[in-house]
Order: sequence, then C-alpha cells, then structure tokens
Amino acid sequence: MRSGDVSGQTTPVAVVTGGSRGIGRAVCLMLADRGYAVCLSYVSDAGAAQAVVEAITAKGGQAVAVRSDVGVEADVLALFEAADRLGTLKALVNNAGVVDVAGRVDEMSAARLQRMMTTNIVGSFLCAREAVRRMSTRHGGHGGGIVNLSSVAARLGGPGQYVDYAASKGAIDTFTTGLAREVAAEGIRVNAVSPGIIDTEIHASGGQPDRVARLGPDQPMGRAGTAEEVAAPIVWLLSEDAAYTTGANILVSGGR
Ligand code: NAP
Repeated sequence: MRSGDVSGQTTPVAVVTGGSRGIGRAVCLMLADRGYAVCLSYVSDAGAAQAVVEAITAKGGQAVAVRSDVGVEADVLALFEAADRLGTLKALVNNAGVVDVAGRVDEMSAARLQRMMTTNIVGSFLCAREAVRRMSTRHGGHGGGIVNLSSVAARLGGPGQYVDYAASKGAIDTFTTGLAREVAAEGIRVNAVSPGIIDTEIHASGGQPDRVARLGPDQPMGRAGTAEEVAAPIVWLLSEDAAYTTGANILVSGGR
C-alpha cells in the first residue's frame, strides 16, 4: 500500500458522484488503487459507468455503479443504500456537476437556473447529509472525509458565459467552510478543490468542445490540466496524510 492508503478490518467505502467520466472517473480509479470499495453514480452514460466498474474489478477491486441523479432525493437515498451494501462509508466526493451553454444573466431561463442550482448545490447538500448521517460520531459513525468540487469560476464569476455556474460553485465554497466547522469535532473532515481548465467532456456539454484547446495555452502553466491531476489532491485530502486539514480549498488550476 502507498502512503495515505486506507487499512483496517472492514473495507472502507467511497461514494463518488458523477464517477463515470472525467475527474470523477479518475478519482474512482485512484481510490480503488488505495483500497476503497467505490460506489459511483452517473445519470446518462451507463456504458461509461460500467467501464469504470470493470476497470476496478479487473484489478481485484470492488465497485458498483448506480444510476442516481444527485438532484433527486430518492436517487441519492438509493445511492447511499448501495454504498451501505459494500461496507462502511468513509469518503464522499461531491463531484457531479453541470455547466450550460454560454449566456448572460439577462438571458437565463428559470429552468436553466433550477437545473444548475439543483444539481450543483442541492445535490451536494443531499449527498453530504447522507454521508454525515453515516460517518459522524454524533450518529454512531467512525468518521470520514468529504471533498467538494468547486471551481476557479467561483472567484472569476464567469461574466458573459456562466455566472450561474460560478455562483453555484461560490455556494460550494461557503458550504465547505460551514460544514467543515459543523462536523469538525465529529470525526469528519470537509474540504474542496477548485480546478481551473481541465481536459474533460464538460466543456463540450456546455457547447464549447474546443475550450481546452483554445484556452489551455493561455493558462499560466501553458496548458490545461488532466483529470488525474485533480484526482490526486482529492485522494490526498481523503487520506490520513491530511488528518489536520479541514475547511481547506485547494486551487488546482495551473496558476490561473
Ligand atoms: P464531466 O466530464 O462532464 O463528467 C460529469 C460527470 O457527472 C459524469 O459522470 C456525469 O454522468 C455526472 N453527472 C452529471 N449530472 C449528474 C447528476 N445530476 N447526477 C449525478 N451525476 C451527474 O465533468 P468534469 O469535468 O469531470 O467535472 C467534474 C466536476 O469538476 C464538476 O463538479 C465540475 O463543475 C468541476 N470542475 C470541472 C472543471 C473542468 O474544467 N473540467 C473545472 C472546474 C470544476 P454521465 O456520464 O451519466 O453523464
């Protein structure tokens, strides 16, 4: 096992929302390498989710994929019930998140805003609620870690493109600070990572498939980041190496 690996008699379980592609997929694979049984969620791409499960089980790990929309409470409950069947929950990565096509605030529909806030904010709250109910010593649990995916957009604001997305990530920053303090004495550490431009399919889903190629060279490091480069600090934050780190928000942005 490597430094930061988990050990113990029971298999520790990690829930990773949106674990079928991009950053979530990289997190699932890294956590499985460190001895976690992984319960990952997806919404539309069952094949991609199953491929992550197979990649983990092929190496002797344990994983299950659950179709679960983070914005739907019943789906979230089912996701955590599936995690319970794997073992003891020790980690949650609130990774699932959506963007939308570029637009100004004065063009945004109520439906767009509701989808954005429901997925990016309410979904993270619901999953954290279920994780705290299982991991908090206040509820008889044995502690654990939560990592929330924020974004540099929370600081930049996304003017003319996606102020709604940026604001949803600003809420995640405040959520991280508040929840970290709320459960700090209950064995749970809560942290965030704020990626910059990362090479995943999220940009295409926002109607900008060329975004990484276009903006990557303008980043201070001269390139976009990879999903693995975001997954590594997430896995570190969940490890015992980060035992005194809570309420932190790590920029993973190549200097942006
Ligand atoms: P991605 O490649 O678009 O993957 C999104 C993942 O989330 C997929 O597994 C998708 O499932 C799942 N998902 C989408 N809506 C969901 C929902 N309602 N419930 C459950 N799962 C859902 O995204 P990514 O780039 O890896 O981004 C991951 C996180 O990092 C997001 O929170 C994003 O805001 C944040 N982030 C990304 C960047 C970047 O440049 N990539 C920068 C800053 C922050 P399906 O496969 O079934 O669609």
